[in-house]
Amino acid sequence: MDQQAISRKPAPSALSSQGKLLMLGYLCDGSSQSAKLWINPEHGGKAVGVIDVNITINDVLAAEQRLARFAPLLEKLFPELEKSNGIVESPVVTLPADVVAKGAGSYGHFWVKADHQLAVAGSVKARGGFHEVLEFAEGVALKHGLLKDGDGYEVLASSMARDCFARYEVAVGSTGNLGMSIGIMSAALGFKACVHMSAEAKEWKKRLLRSHGVMVHEYPGDYGQAVAIGRAKASGNMFAHFVDDEKSISLFCGYAVAALRLQRQLVDLNVRVDEEHPLFVYIPCGVGGAPGGVCYGLKHVFGEHVHCFFVEPEDSSCFLVRLQHPDEEGISIYDAGQHNKTIADGLAVPQASELVYPLMRTRLAGMVVAADESMLVDLWQLKSIAGLKVEPSAAAAVSGPRALLSTEAGQQYLQANGLEPFMSTANHIVWTTGGALMPIDEFERLFAQGQQLASKSLAVGPNAA
Ligand SMILES: *Cc1c(COP(=O)(O)O)cnc(C)c1O
Repeated sequence: MDQQAISRKPAPSALSSQGKLLMLGYLCDGSSQSAKLWINPEHGGKAVGVIDVNITINDVLAAEQRLARFAPLLEKLFPELEKSNGIVESPVVTLPADVVAKGAGSYGHFWVKADHQLAVAGSVKARGGFHEVLEFAEGVALKHGLLKDGDGYEVLASSMARDCFARYEVAVGSTGNLGMSIGIMSAALGFKACVHMSAEAKEWKKRLLRSHGVMVHEYPGDYGQAVAIGRAKASGNMFAHFVDDEKSISLFCGYAVAALRLQRQLVDLNVRVDEEHPLFVYIPCGVGGAPGGVCYGLKHVFGEHVHCFFVEPEDSSCFLVRLQHPDEEGISIYDAGQHNKTIADGLAVPQASELVYPLMRTRLAGMVVAADESMLVDLWQLKSIAGLKVEPSAAAAVSGPRALLSTEAGQQYLQANGLEPFMSTANHIVWTTGGALMPIDEFERLFAQGQQLASKSLAVGPNAA
């Protein structure tokens, strides 16, 4: 990777006369809170050779309508969805700015989009994963005449429908969360469900899936390998549907629905998005499907007034590597000297999605790279300061605003885009992508590690004296 491209320096003097950036710069460069920012040079432009793959906003609207058609069935299958009438959605809550950095409050209001609380699947994978399983179920149901004109989709909970679904298999390759989303929904509808798991997958995720009746296959290799094996196994089987995380349009459109719903949530919160109220969104990135869908939807809704940043682990930054090598389709992190070692199991992915990459080339503002230590400290902070229980992959999002506000590259971005005068009225959304289903002992272990790292870095910080 081109290390030069990532600014590590503290911010220039433009705003430090107010004494804020010094603090931000310090925190950012502290041993446990390092975050690096890379600004996408193609953002907002017309990249040469970019094909807008065959996705339009109408596909996203269709996905939203499909999720609505299935809501009565989901309400029936999952009692926890009764209060939301079968819609799986997360709240937007205020985030104390101190979690990002001391003084960050002067750069606008901070929010959390709390996907770590998404019902049933416990992660951002709920929207995309559920949508793809439901789209497949809808196709099977129509083919077999299970849905007659005027029928509500509740009829798909009947034993006749379930017997029909039981002849089909839904399969997926996963580091964990996608498997949980696909596996739990498929099994609940009556499909055979099969999850091919890579080496990073946590034991508790496998246990939980098996308790839902999902077949779990384990492989010693990385995510790319688990996907390849799953894809090959399903390809010979007429009754199998393989959810292809690297290529699926259905998954992508399901993820993008989040943007349409967020637009309404922001209206309800009286949050404006316009020239004087820029919106910054920071989302953890694996193959790019979930954050890509959200960014695609948000750019449709808010255009140039929304600035999307993806956050990746230092040793698994596949989307950054791809963006920095526009001519090298299929380039992996290994080609760039990385090893895929990170505590962020949901982000431990060696290769960016080639479906999503072209869609992001001119839409994405930039990439942030976060160290494992930062994720642990932020996991601890999010719990102890904001009361949010998230997994390391989700805690990575906090590095997003920290990097934008405290690096030279970030300050240059704000300046170049004429954003500086409007930062005090800006809104920042930190997308916490997973965590609800994490067993409490697993969470407490990570929490303790984060706390320890934080106290160590404070001991060498300005408060030590
Ligand atoms: C999967 C996942 C992501 C990223 O999604 P991709 O589609 O792989 O980019 C982020 N956070 C969590 C918790 C995830 O499980």
